[in-house]
Amino acid sequence: MDLLISTRNPHKLDEIRACLAAAHPHLLSAFDLPDLPEVEEDGDTLEANAMKKASVLARAAGLWAIADDTGLEVEALGGAPGVYSARYAGPDATYADNCAKLLRALRDQEDRHARFRTVIALSDPHGECRWVEGVCEGDILHEARGDGGFGYDPLFRPAGHEETFAEMAAELKNNISHRGRALRKAAEAWSAILAQAPSSWAEANV
Ligand code: IMP
Repeated sequence: MDLLISTRNPHKLDEIRACLAAAHPHLLSAFDLPDLPEVEEDGDTLEANAMKKASVLARAAGLWAIADDTGLEVEALGGAPGVYSARYAGPDATYADNCAKLLRALRDQEDRHARFRTVIALSDPHGECRWVEGVCEGDILHEARGDGGFGYDPLFRPAGHEETFAEMAAELKNNISHRGRALRKAAEAWSAILAQAPSSWAEANV
């Protein structure tokens, strides 16, 4: 049975496909089902947003669906922008706007510690969800470096590495990133579902 990946972000889709294809080869995306509803990410937590996206789209498509929500949590900013990372510089903010606002907020700040956190939710076709999370610790540089990746990648240097996410090969980012970690946890925790693709939680016995 097909598994729906509830994202229209091509960067995320590539990362999710790269990590999940081995566990479950029949991956569809929101691009394959253009009539799916838009889901407003209006929850107060990453968990609420990921479960809302997964369950709304799973019910609309009549398929099992996974969705992720990610936030950048900056220690010196009390965990901001967190669940508001996409709209940090305003409702129509670009990645560049958000990065510029983050650099301004951290000007003269010595504590640059931050983490990316991803929550991945899996919904059955009736909207019943469970979730896992993945975290990547690192720090925020004083200026952007690199052309790869997306979002805050040019500013984020993962702990133990010299390069930012935007300077790394995609494979290395997937190996160490918040999303990669969450996806590997998901593949392990939900291996019964991904392998058998049963039609209900009861059959899955998870
Ligand atoms: P979303 O709601 O999960 O799409 O993520 C919120 C925002 O976090 C996005 O608009 C990006 O700016 C940022 N973001 C999510 N994942 C990543 C990542 O892997 N690297 C850099 N920024 C990311």
